[in-house]
Amino acid sequence: MLSERLPLTEAPDELPEFVDGVLLPYLTPSESNRVVWCTEWRDHPDAVHRLAAIHEEWATMLGEEDASLHLFLRDVLDYHLPLLIDSEKGAFRRCGGSHDAGRQLGSEKRAGR
Ligand SMILES: [Zn+2]
Repeated sequence: MLSERLPLTEAPDELPEFVDGVLLPYLTPSESNRVVWCTEWRDHPDAVHRLAAIHEEWATMLGEEDASLHLFLRDVLDYHLPLLIDSEKGAFRRCGGSHDAGRQLGSEKRAGR
């Protein structure tokens, strides 16, 4: 269970197969420069957590007899995907030209302290 492994210090073993084999093949590349994906997603802790959450919900949905793809898309993918790939607010926003995992919140001293 994912919650027993939080916070994730690295991508769970099953996550790359889901991301590369299930998620990415169904996402259409955008010509817009408002979308950024990073092939080094494993180096983005915030992305790893969101992708793991998406995977967990996907696996849960597959195990449900009355699973709703609509609810998965609306409640999970439509919620998390912009927070991953949006060029302004997504986890990969620094990776438009090349990978830049950036800094973590709290890694810099606040001014005057
Ligand atoms: Zn990156």
